[in-house]
Amino acid sequence: MLKDRLCYIDEYCQTFISRVVREEKDANGEWYVILENTAFYPTGGGQPHDTGTLNGIPVLNVEDVDGEIRHTVAEKLDSTIAEGVLDWGRRFDHMQQHAGQHILTAAFVELYDFQTVSFHLGNELCSIDLDVEKVTEEQLASVEKRANEIILKNIPIEKKWVTEAELEQYSLRKELKFTDEIRLVMIPDFDYNGCGGTHPSSTGQVISIKILATEKQKKKTRVHFACGGRVLQQLHRKNAILGKASQQLSAAEEGINDAITKLLGTNRSLEKSLEEAHETLLSYEVKDLLITKERNIVKALFKGRTIQQLQKLARLLVAGDEEVIALLVAENGDQLQFVAARGARSEVSMKQITKSVLPAINGKGGGNEGFVQGGGERTIPGEELLIIMEESSLNS
Ligand SMILES: [Zn+2]
Repeated sequence: MLKDRLCYIDEYCQTFISRVVREEKDANGEWYVILENTAFYPTGGGQPHDTGTLNGIPVLNVEDVDGEIRHTVAEKLDSTIAEGVLDWGRRFDHMQQHAGQHILTAAFVELYDFQTVSFHLGNELCSIDLDVEKVTEEQLASVEKRANEIILKNIPIEKKWVTEAELEQYSLRKELKFTDEIRLVMIPDFDYNGCGGTHPSSTGQVISIKILATEKQKKKTRVHFACGGRVLQQLHRKNAILGKASQQLSAAEEGINDAITKLLGTNRSLEKSLEEAHETLLSYEVKDLLITKERNIVKALFKGRTIQQLQKLARLLVAGDEEVIALLVAENGDQLQFVAARGARSEVSMKQITKSVLPAINGKGGGNEGFVQGGGERTIPGEELLIIMEESSLNS
């Protein structure tokens, strides 16, 4: 019977001795142990399994397979008796999170009639999904306050095995499917719920509940929270992050936001002046390049310039001199990229240039009669590519 399991007879049982029923290998070749009775909680009801040791051998996983509790162990026990020791820190943390979830869920129902449709107990944070699309900051604050009131009242958390007939006396938060064994977990006058998880003996042991964030999940709202020792962990972590930020910004904690706003403002104006400086520089570059034109052709080779930068420069060149043809090539790693553009008063076909260039570099490119761009492999030096482009434009 479920109710005879050690983890239900005494949820605070941390060590126990049991006869070993059998030891076998599972489908993955890992040893598992079946005990006559166990205080190890198997994964279920949103609560992760316990860990610990059996005869000093680590218990890696605990699962309920057809009513039998399998303890996956790091190696074979080879014993008829096992002494079980739970990792109590892990288990008690799970008890705090689980009871905290009951309290939080019940507070959402009590104050706003928001129902919880699922619960996740993660390694660092827990979450519940509420069947509503939107929860306001005020609602979250009220629920958090109510949940912490229930904790502070230190109400005994009662557990009771009941029959179907007895079940009718209780107004349950969620309807239960009837099974032979129903376990009620009750916080009198606040929450009555069917649950097979483990919980502390009173609400006070949850210590506190903190809602940390919400997230939209289609038509539901996910509420992330932490209970018990995890609240302190979160505080430590956030404190450390804030401390570092405060140090880097040379600002007091309360001034961090202002300091960031100021920093972002400075950054934006720096970006703007940098952009202006680039533009000025580019206009000088255009002038310098136009001076080098021979037979109306301006050509230049660059290293590490993007195709966008080449395009911009080419546009400025042909705008600066309408008779000019701009032939630009950039060597970028093992790639060669090019742009060819003509001024409004030139009639040379840029498409023709693409045609003569692409086979030499196994490249791809496109554009129109007045402006083309492309790129390919660096099979030849950039200078050579420029010569091909120049010859093509002189011959067309
Ligand atoms: Zn529970």
